[in-house]
Amino acid sequence: MSDRKPLIAGNWKMFKSPIEAVETARQLVAKTSEGVNVEVMIAPPFNALYPVAREINNSDISLGAQNLFWELEGAFTGEVSPSMLVASGCKFVIIGHSERRQFFHESDENVNKKVKAALAVGLTPILCIGETETERESDQTFSILENQLNLGLENLSADQIQPLVIAYEPVWAIGTGKAATAGMAQEVHGFIRTLLSNKFGSPLANSVRILYGGSVKSDNVSELMNQPDLDGALVGGASLDADSFSQLIYYG
Ligand code: PEP
Repeated sequence: MSDRKPLIAGNWKMFKSPIEAVETARQLVAKTSEGVNVEVMIAPPFNALYPVAREINNSDISLGAQNLFWELEGAFTGEVSPSMLVASGCKFVIIGHSERRQFFHESDENVNKKVKAALAVGLTPILCIGETETERESDQTFSILENQLNLGLENLSADQIQPLVIAYEPVWAIGTGKAATAGMAQEVHGFIRTLLSNKFGSPLANSVRILYGGSVKSDNVSELMNQPDLDGALVGGASLDADSFSQLIYYG
């Protein structure tokens, strides 16, 4: 049994108005009022961050953002800075989600800048890495992940990345209903932990939480979470509804 506290993180993507987000947050606060054994995070869209922060204040739920820009302020139309996220109540920020890599051409170099910017203001980055279906079928899974991890964490030391969370999200499993099996996920998580150990040393590798993401639902969560190197889940679809998300929070 590791002493890494599991993190169940909900990515609400581009869903919910601020009013709807506050209402779901209110329901989650009620459902977790007796206490939880895991850490819980929700990441609503930018415009709902501050009202949701007020709703979950003094609860067991933390706030995260889905993205950030690396500069603190300036003429960067449409972007949101790390310090703005802190001021809106965020503790976490998701970085390098495959939808950002795919639709917004986010490079590993930009992901690296974002990880550094998040750490600099005390935000906990959730760095997402994962292979596509084609990459898996052509046996490139491990080399793709190694590359994403090396570039995403370039020029960072073990001390600096202490709070880091990694999310392994096979692209073919996101939003498809086709989750990785527990065995497949464990194989990759073990590989990621070995990479971290080789690069940053075993104390760091043993403390970093590695989440699995990709079609996590109530019927597969406990088998996945029972694997030794799975330290939580990053959840899309099943996090949008307070009932289904709380089933994942209480998976144990
Ligand atoms: C995600 O968006 O990170 C995700 C894992 O989505 P889903 O749970 O819907 O597959």
